[in-house]
Amino acid sequence: MKVFDVIINALFPNKCIACGSIINRDEFLCDYCYGKIERMDYFKACKRCGLPKKLCECKNRVFHFSGVTAPFYSGDIAKAAMYRFKFNKLSFCSRFFAYEMAKAIKNTYFDICFDGIVYVPMSTIKKLKRGFNQSEELAKGLSKILGIKLYKDVLVAKHKPEQQHNMSLKERFKNVKGIYSFNKKVTGKTILLVDDIKTTGATIDECAKQLLLAGANDVYCVTGLLTKPKERKKMNGS
Ligand SMILES: [Zn+2]
Ligand SMILES: [Zn+2]
Repeated sequence: MKVFDVIINALFPNKCIACGSIINRDEFLCDYCYGKIERMDYFKACKRCGLPKKLCECKNRVFHFSGVTAPFYSGDIAKAAMYRFKFNKLSFCSRFFAYEMAKAIKNTYFDICFDGIVYVPMSTIKKLKRGFNQSEELAKGLSKILGIKLYKDVLVAKHKPEQQHNMSLKERFKNVKGIYSFNKKVTGKTILLVDDIKTTGATIDECAKQLLLAGANDVYCVTGLLTKPKERKKMNGS
């Protein structure tokens, strides 16, 4: 190791994005977190709702999107990494999730040719407060990795959704109604919709609906994490 690298490592040690323990410079997770993080098994997951087939929620429900994929289910490790990214805008967390989401897309949507990437928008007030929209950051990363065009500002959020973690599934779907609208047409396009977390799917469903109204041919979703039904109460996403 060069002297310069030794000094940099001593001054700015690279830390596991989930637990904060010190790791090698080119890694994102420590060995423990890497082994424990709950990855989606693409063969055992429902292609539509993304949940393990035995927990599938597609029955008796009509979604506006054609599929959901994600690299991880929201166990403690993946959640800790996502929250670090969401609340601190750590660019290496964004790189980690974008890289893992790109792998999920290649595994799940290998036969689909996307025209463009759209992200779930954030209301202006919320974006000003936080300083960035995490879904937009992930979409930018994915656009670079996958070489798919980023369609900016296609969707807009009218106002801030209420915190949804205590709401039932029905209430969450009702809560996001009318919040999103489209700004631009995407006629005839096959869209990859990006969000940070899928909880019930209410947000991405409402956004997919708007994209179809804007003329999209088809909408497929990718999120950083996907929440299983029993963990929903603990999550803020929708
Ligand atoms: Zn760790
Ligand atoms: Zn399903």
